[in-house]
Order: sequence, then structure tokens, then C-alpha cells
Amino acid sequence: MFFQRQVQRAIEKEHMFTLQESVLVAVSGGKDSLALWDVLIDLGYQTVGVHLDLGIGEYSRVSTAKTDAFVQRRGQRLITVRLGDEGPAVPTMAAFTRRPACAACGTAKRHYFDHVAIDGGFPVLATGHNLDDEAARLMGNVMRWRVDHLAKQSPVLESTHPRFVRKVKPLFRVSEYEAAVYAFFRGIDYIIDECPNSVGATQLLYKDVLNRLEAAMPGSKLSFVQEFLRSARPAFATASSSPPQTCERCGMPSFGSVCSFCNLVREVERKQAGRAVAQRAADNL
Ligand code: AMP
Ligand code: ZN
Repeated sequence: MFFQRQVQRAIEKEHMFTLQESVLVAVSGGKDSLALWDVLIDLGYQTVGVHLDLGIGEYSRVSTAKTDAFVQRRGQRLITVRLGDEGPAVPTMAAFTRRPACAACGTAKRHYFDHVAIDGGFPVLATGHNLDDEAARLMGNVMRWRVDHLAKQSPVLESTHPRFVRKVKPLFRVSEYEAAVYAFFRGIDYIIDECPNSVGATQLLYKDVLNRLEAAMPGSKLSFVQEFLRSARPAFATASSSPPQTCERCGMPSFGSVCSFCNLVREVERKQAGRAVAQRAADNL
């Protein structure tokens, strides 16, 4: 099958992982990550899923339910992390900080993915980012000439720190449409709704622009990403840097004394405490 072959080719050509390695697959309950997990199981890779319940109301409830249904059907092992149990969930982070919800969510996801992978001894984390995601991300980075991000945009990010595992994107050569078709033919039930926080996100605008380019010039998305990786990315490679310090709160790599995730959590805790004090003072009046 075309989809399966494309994924296998990406894994082998980019040296993402081997049959002997244990792969932690990040599954959101969406079509891409469930299609990815489904293919990896059929190709004989050793996989365990990780799902983050982000605490975003009905959207998260359905995402978790779809993930659990897949696990039941395919008899797989899944590690679920409920953000609200471990620390603040995404809506709390967004409400108590000035960061947009998507930024807070991205920081939290990166933190928990590495955390679970390190704790479980997984050398590699696979996500369901597809060609449309990668092309849109590339366009965003180019529009703002974010050279540090361009240096790090790759289907394989090697571990640069003992507490950062290798990150791979085996779907980077297949489109969102191809993933949806694969999921449909495999009878995979997935969450169709986009995250409510992503409505209006610039990423969606870039995807729309790229779809129009693709309609006029078929193959544009793939060549945009592939040629970037082959010809342009090496020019940015020196701009890449890994965090030199260790976070004093969680032990993960950081650029300052605490990492960006703990900074976020600390800000939430401070503001929550401030609000509680103000509430008590108001109650005593
Ligand atoms: P997104 O950033 O929502 O486009 O998701 C990109 C990839 O990140 C997905 O294909 C998944 O592999 C992973 N991912 C996103 N959300 C979650 C989640 N709640 N739990 C586990 N993995 C996730
Ligand atoms: Zn930290």
C-alpha cells in the first residue's frame, strides 16, 4: 500500500529507528497519529503509545476516547498523562499567563513527551506531523526568517542532551489527505474536530495558501520541504544550539536556571496564589 511504503521509506532513508528499538508514539486521537501507529504496528516495529489529556473540555474528552478505542481494538500499550493531575491543564495555563493557549500547549507537550520517554527508557519519540504540517511550519519560519527554527526543522532531530530523546516524523512525506484516506480504509475512528484553540491560527492560513499552490502546481508542497532539507537547511545548521543548563525544578535541559515549562508553571502558581490571597482579603471585608 502506497501510504505504508512511503512511511517505511521515510523511516529507513532518514534512519529514524530500527526494528530493535522501542518507539514511543505520540497519539492525539487524530487521524495522523492513529494512522502512524497503525502502520508502525503492521510494519512490525515495537511501539508504545503516549497520550496527553490536555484538559480542553469536550475536545480532550473525545480525543482520549478515540485513542482508548484504538488501543482496545489493536491490543496495544498506552501511557496516558492527564495534565490536570500532574500540574496545570492547558486552559489554566492560558488563563493565568499572557501566552496564547497554543504556545502554552506546545511547551507542555514537549515537556511531557520527553519526560515519559526518559522515564520509560524509550530512545525515540514519533509524532504524526504530516507533509502539510511540515510545509506550513517551513513557510511560517521562512516568512519570519527564524533561522534558529529553520536549523531545527527536520524529520529527525537527534538527541542533543541526555534528557532529550530523538524526535522523528515518519509521516513527513505524506499529505493530510493521504492520511485521512488511509485512516478511512483501515476503519480507524478518529477525532475530526480541530482543537478549539487552533481556530484562526496562522498555521491554518499557511496551509490554505499551500493548498492553493498545490492545486495550481502539483508537487509544490513536497518539493518545498524536500528541497529545503536537501539544499537550504545545511546553510542554517550552525545556528542550531541545545540548552546548556539543567532545570533546577524538573531536571530537564534549559537555557536558564529553570526550563520554559517550569517557568510557565511557576507563573501560573504565582498568579493562582495571588488570586487566592485577594479572594481571602475580599471575603474578610
Ligand atoms: P498537532 O500539534 O496537534 O498538529 O499534533 C502534531 C502531533 O503531535 C500529532 O500527530 C501527535 O503525534 C502529537 N500530539 C498532539 N497532541 C497530542 C496529545 N494530546 N497527546 C499525544 N500526542 C499528541
Ligand atoms: Zn523544568
